[in-house]
Amino acid sequence: MKYASFRAVAYVVGLLLLVPVGCSKPPESHSHADGEGQPNVFAGEYPILVVCTTGQVAEMVARIGGDHVEVKALMGPGVDPHLFRPIASDVDKLHRADAIFYNGLHLEGRMSDLFVKMARRKATYAVTEGLQSRHDSRLREPPEFEGMYDPHVWHDVALWSDCVRDVAENLAAFDPRHAEAYRANMEVYVSELEELHQFCLDEIAKIPADRRVLITAHDAFGYFGKVYGLEVFGLKGISTEEEKDLAHQDIIQQMIIERKIPAVFVESAVAPRTIEALVEPCRDAGHDLKVGGELYADALGEAGSEENTYTGMIRHNVRTIAEALTD
Ligand SMILES: [Zn+2]
Repeated sequence: MKYASFRAVAYVVGLLLLVPVGCSKPPESHSHADGEGQPNVFAGEYPILVVCTTGQVAEMVARIGGDHVEVKALMGPGVDPHLFRPIASDVDKLHRADAIFYNGLHLEGRMSDLFVKMARRKATYAVTEGLQSRHDSRLREPPEFEGMYDPHVWHDVALWSDCVRDVAENLAAFDPRHAEAYRANMEVYVSELEELHQFCLDEIAKIPADRRVLITAHDAFGYFGKVYGLEVFGLKGISTEEEKDLAHQDIIQQMIIERKIPAVFVESAVAPRTIEALVEPCRDAGHDLKVGGELYADALGEAGSEENTYTGMIRHNVRTIAEALTD
C-alpha cells in the first residue's frame, strides 16, 4: 500500500541530510569518546549516571545496571519520540551524563544530530545498533521509510531481548568492574522477556484467524504483527510526523466494512481523533465499529500504573487487542 506523502519524503530527505544513511547504514553508536580509538571506560564515582531517551530503553538499562547505575529518561509517559525536541534542560542532562543510551534507527528523529555531537565526548549507544550491524533478518524495511529500518523493535519481545543482551555487553565494556553483575541481571530480565514473548504468542493465537487485523494511528506495530501473526495497518506512516493521507484512510475504511473488522485502536501518544475519525463513517455504512481501547505504542504508561513498565505495556496491549477482536 503506497501512501508516502510529500511530507514523508521531505522528512526522510531531511534525515538523510542530517545523518548519512542508505546502502551502507553506518552504525549509530559511538562508544569511543576521545576520537583516538581508545575504548571509553568509566572512571568516575558510582552510581554511573545514565541518561536514556524512551521509558523502555531506560527500564532496560536500569534492570541491567542495578545498583551501579542511576538512570534518567528524557521522555515521560505519553511523549512521542518522533516529535520530541530536547529543551535546554534535556541537553544539560545529556551533558552531565556519564553515558547515553537511545533507541536509534531514527526513532528519535529530531535528536540525531545531537547524538552525533554527544558521541564525540562520551559513551553514546543506540540499543538497536547490534541488530543493525548484524543485519538481523527480522529488521523491517518498509518501502515508505525508504532506506531505513522500522525503529519500533520493542514490540517484538524476542528482538528486544537481543537488544537487552547487547546493552549488557555495552555496560560491561564501559564498566568492566561490574561486568559479571550486568550479565547476571541481564539473564534474569531476558528470562522474564521469554515468558512475555510466549504470553503474546498464546493470547494472539486465541483471536479467530479472520479477525487478526490491527488498525492503529501510526505504523508502530509492524514488528508486533509480523512476529505474533496479525495484519497491521496504520493511518499514518512509520513516523507520527507524517500527515494522515485521506485516500489511504478511505481504503482502510472500506476494508473495515467489507471484512467486518470489529475494532480499531487509539494510541496513548497520538491524538485519539486520528483513529476516532474512522468510527462514524463505518457506522453510517451500517458496520458497528468500536474503539477497542488505548494501546501503548511508543511510550510507557503513567507512573504507578502497570503500563509504566515494559512488560506491563506489552501485556496491556496484547490483552486489549485480544479482547476487542474476539468480542
Ligand atoms: Zn512510532
